[in-house]
Amino acid sequence: MSTSLLYHAFGLRGYDYVKTEYREGGVVFTLRQRPHTCRCPLCGTREVCPRGHQERTFKTVPIGGKSVTVVLPIPRVHCATCQVIRQVPLTFADPRRSYTQAFERYALELSRLMTIQDVAHHLGVGWDLIKDMQKRDLQRRYRKPRLSKLKQIAIDEISIGKGHRYLTVVLNLESGAVVFVGDGKGAEALEPFWRRLRAARAKVAAVATDMSPAYIEAVRQHLGEAVHVFDHFHVVKLFNEKLSDFRRELQREAEEKMNKQVLKGTRWLLLKNPENLDPKKKERERLEEALRMNQPLATVYYLKEDLRQIWEQPDKATAARVLDDWMRRAEASCIKVLQKFAATLAMHRTGILAYYDCRISTGPLEGTNNKIRTMQRQAYGFRDQEFFKLKILALHEAKYALVG
Ligand SMILES: [Zn+2]
Repeated sequence: MSTSLLYHAFGLRGYDYVKTEYREGGVVFTLRQRPHTCRCPLCGTREVCPRGHQERTFKTVPIGGKSVTVVLPIPRVHCATCQVIRQVPLTFADPRRSYTQAFERYALELSRLMTIQDVAHHLGVGWDLIKDMQKRDLQRRYRKPRLSKLKQIAIDEISIGKGHRYLTVVLNLESGAVVFVGDGKGAEALEPFWRRLRAARAKVAAVATDMSPAYIEAVRQHLGEAVHVFDHFHVVKLFNEKLSDFRRELQREAEEKMNKQVLKGTRWLLLKNPENLDPKKKERERLEEALRMNQPLATVYYLKEDLRQIWEQPDKATAARVLDDWMRRAEASCIKVLQKFAATLAMHRTGILAYYDCRISTGPLEGTNNKIRTMQRQAYGFRDQEFFKLKILALHEAKYALVG
């Protein structure tokens, strides 16, 4: 073994090669520190006297399938200037760890493609060791995401796991990066984010959220200058919920009048976009029959279809006319659920039409939220909340394999 191979393959510089042994299927290199390279770890002087050594072993990158261990008696030295006896500094490892920096780099490299479990198994180390490595690396890079250039953001909460646990996620809509993960939901979850935003002197120009009062108040208070867009997917989703409730109500009435079958199994047909109705299953025919039998349901259904039109107009003025027309028809329908929804839209009119000032939505967050759920489901090791949040902040770079 040459010293240059030690350096180039294992990143070990300034050490002499002593011997190689083969133990338990692995390779063990013993090295020796060159005496003249000994320094005081405090002041850096080479004017030190030897005071014995302490033998340490470090795991380093494997050779093929064989694990490699480096054995080094670390010299202890006395420094007359500092008046201490200490170990000399290491050039290839953190003395608190049982592995070399080259090993860490290699493990992190593998982590891009493999799960923590796979990397740990491949390198013959514990799950926790790889996880801690990843965590430190993520902390270095993501603990404080840069917020100063933030321009367009989307905010939404996501429920994870069982037991109704929530996280509130803020997405940079320009880069696709998650810039904040808050515990819980509502105004409180966002408090740390506003603090950081103020500290970074960010000038956020536009924000997309759903129509919840907590977000309206928070945005008014902290981003008073920004365009606040109510996400159109959330508006449509809210209406679909009302439509489902309404159908259930009608179904119940129909059952009471012994007229059972009419609405059975129509829920999904009502919620589907018409272009997706399956001709093989005669979905269109079944839907039309249900609507023919029930005039109020038909009214709600056709208004659902028209609701989407609000976001498909060439400009804001036209969209405003479409929205106002929708509200008028809902109002005139004499159907309570529609009248209520028209009132909701009227109250949020500005934020709905703000879409035409800045065409943003929380749509991109949907993809991120799906990734978070996948991560949550598959990774039993994410009991460490900080690690889980760091993984979310790193999602857009897909630096690590998603699962644990
Ligand atoms: Zn010293």
